[in-house]
Amino acid sequence: MIWQRRIQQALEQRKAQHLWRQPHCLQGPQGVIVTRGERRLLNFCSNDYLGLAALGGDALQQAAQQWQFGSGASHLVCGHSQAHEELQRALAAHAGYPRAVLFSTGYMANLGVISALTQRGDTVWQDKLNHASLLDGAQLSRAQLKRYRHNDSDHLQQLLATTDGSGAHLIVSDSIFSMDGNCAELTQLANIAEQHQALLLIDDAHGFGVLGEHGEGARHAFSLSAQQLPLYMGTLGKALGGFGAFVACDHDMADYLTQFARSHIYTTAMPPALAAAMCVQLQRLQQGDLQKQLRTNIAYWRQLADQAGLPLMPSESAIQPLLVGSSERALQLSAALSEQGFWVTAIRPPTVPQHSARLRITLSAAHSHEQIAELVSCLQPLWEQCS
Ligand code: PMP
Repeated sequence: MIWQRRIQQALEQRKAQHLWRQPHCLQGPQGVIVTRGERRLLNFCSNDYLGLAALGGDALQQAAQQWQFGSGASHLVCGHSQAHEELQRALAAHAGYPRAVLFSTGYMANLGVISALTQRGDTVWQDKLNHASLLDGAQLSRAQLKRYRHNDSDHLQQLLATTDGSGAHLIVSDSIFSMDGNCAELTQLANIAEQHQALLLIDDAHGFGVLGEHGEGARHAFSLSAQQLPLYMGTLGKALGGFGAFVACDHDMADYLTQFARSHIYTTAMPPALAAAMCVQLQRLQQGDLQKQLRTNIAYWRQLADQAGLPLMPSESAIQPLLVGSSERALQLSAALSEQGFWVTAIRPPTVPQHSARLRITLSAAHSHEQIAELVSCLQPLWEQCS
């Protein structure tokens, strides 16, 4: 009885507060135009920033002929293949580090790294708006979790100055914040980490593949050395259009994670064909001009949206949210957009702070300027009606 009541109350509360979430089912592949139920929709909410999700299928099919399907076991038992080895090598080289360690997802990478490195008596310092997986990693570690004001390195500096010096310090931040789209002050964070002999972990889920000339990521974009940014987490499910994640670092750190990161050790390795296909996706990203195309699309969106009076947030990234506030209103706007053929998800608490529901619009290199202009034309009257 106690469980039934608790579960029903939680579900009813979610509905009453307009916070109910459910997946929508696609009838075909991910892309700029998708089929959802009966509707064809122009997609403005995926993390497939370069349009690579639709392109990896051929590489996967080809790799499956050699590698078949499952990896059969975790990396340290017998699931680690040449395909994984090559992917680790290619990712490390692209991000500019000596080594990389694969994880099944970014969520698991963050849990694994933070919980492997820190313990009771240590402190994990995190930006208030860090991704849930980073916060969960700190909870798992039993270290003390302290959060500084969003993107406020002065606040972090002040807090660090008041610590008693016992225990080790890990500073953790998203590079591009997933729900706001703005970028962390990475240079200041690196300087603070050096000053306090803290380790710095940057989650570049939304920067890897996008930032830098050919998507080398946030470290390159900020001209930081690998020593200044010793722990770099990148994901393969966003700009690379696939699935998986890695942590790039030096040799000792890679050995340490292989020994102690439980979410790397105690889980089945990704299918080797997927690892081989991800290598091809990485080559596509290195060869093309997709990052430039994306930057052009972001600039075009910002110009049109600004002219249309839409309240842009200070983001230069592919994540271009429009802050609504009320969850109910955000849902209404999302539904109205869907009626007119656009898919933009309403992001609500607890993913974002209370009263800060938003339309999380994301741009892709695969959008045409016409499609971006259509979204703005549709949004402008809807926004005026609801404000
Ligand atoms: N970090 C950030 C900043 C993210 O936005 C996400 C995905 N939403 C993750 C980590 C988790 O990555 P994955 O989807 O590969 O688990």
